[in-house]
Amino acid sequence: MKIQMQVLIALGLGLKRNWHIFSGLILGVIAGILLHKYNLHQHYVMTILTFVGELFIRLIQMVVIPLVISAIIIGITSIGDNKQLSKLGTKMIGYYAIITLAAVAIGAVLALVFKPGLSASQYISEYAASDIQATVAATIEAQRANILNIFLNFIPKNPLEALATGNMVAIIVFAVIFALALAKTGEINRPFVSFFESIFAATMKVTDWIMCFAAPGVFALTAVNVSSFGLDIFSSISKYIGVITIGFLIQLLIVYPIFLRIFSKVPVWMLYAAIAEAMMVAFGTASSSATLPLTIACCEKRGISHKISSFVLPLGATLNMDGTALLQTVAVIFLAQAYNVALTPFLILQICFLAVIASSTCAGIPGAGLITIALILNGMGLSPEQLVVGFGFLLTLDRVTDMLRTLVNVTSDAVVTAAIADNENEINYDLLNNPEEYKEII
Ligand code: ASP
Repeated sequence: MKIQMQVLIALGLGLKRNWHIFSGLILGVIAGILLHKYNLHQHYVMTILTFVGELFIRLIQMVVIPLVISAIIIGITSIGDNKQLSKLGTKMIGYYAIITLAAVAIGAVLALVFKPGLSASQYISEYAASDIQATVAATIEAQRANILNIFLNFIPKNPLEALATGNMVAIIVFAVIFALALAKTGEINRPFVSFFESIFAATMKVTDWIMCFAAPGVFALTAVNVSSFGLDIFSSISKYIGVITIGFLIQLLIVYPIFLRIFSKVPVWMLYAAIAEAMMVAFGTASSSATLPLTIACCEKRGISHKISSFVLPLGATLNMDGTALLQTVAVIFLAQAYNVALTPFLILQICFLAVIASSTCAGIPGAGLITIALILNGMGLSPEQLVVGFGFLLTLDRVTDMLRTLVNVTSDAVVTAAIADNENEINYDLLNNPEEYKEII
């Protein structure tokens, strides 16, 4: 079948199946624009929308920790043997690295070609959030900490504290090490693994129930987010937002299809149709972690095996942030251009390298990518005032870019998972290529 035809069918079926979430998203954008236009931030409608959105996010966040731990334990113990595990782990890191390197390269090339930052210093100060200067300065200072310390903090001193504070990277590190040890213990681990299989099944069921609430949830979250910036921002800062959006589109429409073509035989449009719900919820919630239960449900119910998705997706939702890496690269080059910092080849390489680290160390929650961007900004030679104003400017724009970059982050998690599942013969193509047969999430 011609590729254009496949795209149309996949998009049509994806939208038909998810018309309620899709309508929630579009209506949310319209409502957000109106709320912004008529300055209704204090209106009681806003209070209701914030309540509904927060309710939806809290419900999905509620299942994330039990889901991540049980998925990792089941995933790793079901793969079992050491050789296969290290083969899969290495492949996963390699694939995630390829996709993230492509993202920073695209971000750097676009920013250097279109130069969105030239003569932008004027409107940077105009748009910079001025009421948070002290917090901004503290965030930048905190990120000045040695890079090695950031890695050290990945190891939880107390796993229960990591659980209680929701520190996802630390939880994942503990779960992976624990699961590897369990896999080595042989048959004796059976009761423990069965216990987590029950937890996993129950959290999936709860996710089904929560998804009944997806349309109003996505509507409310999108409306609240869009109302904080409105449409006028696109005309005033169009070049910067335009470069980022083009970068995201290149990732979605060129890089992932080429990646899947080279490393697997997964038809990209079918994959997009299979994960359409997760893509929309990622946009609405701006959180890869909160979207994770749904990303797993979409992959597993549409042909990708439990063994692969329960191992690769939870790690991807925390480590693989190519959308964030692209944004960080463009944002830092943008500020460098605005403040006339000489962009030597060495500095550009340094930005790209740090963007890979800063993105993969950020949590899958709203706004996390902006905090770790300070790690890159600190080495740029900007004055303390320029740092604060520049960071404040990025903060003002964060909502717009966060929804888009999270959609990209979640899509690439699924792309890598599908490629690995294909390599391991863990995809049911009769199901994946047949969207009419897809089971509803609910
Ligand atoms: N919100 C993004 C995510 O959850 C992380 C970021 O802030 O870039 O994937």
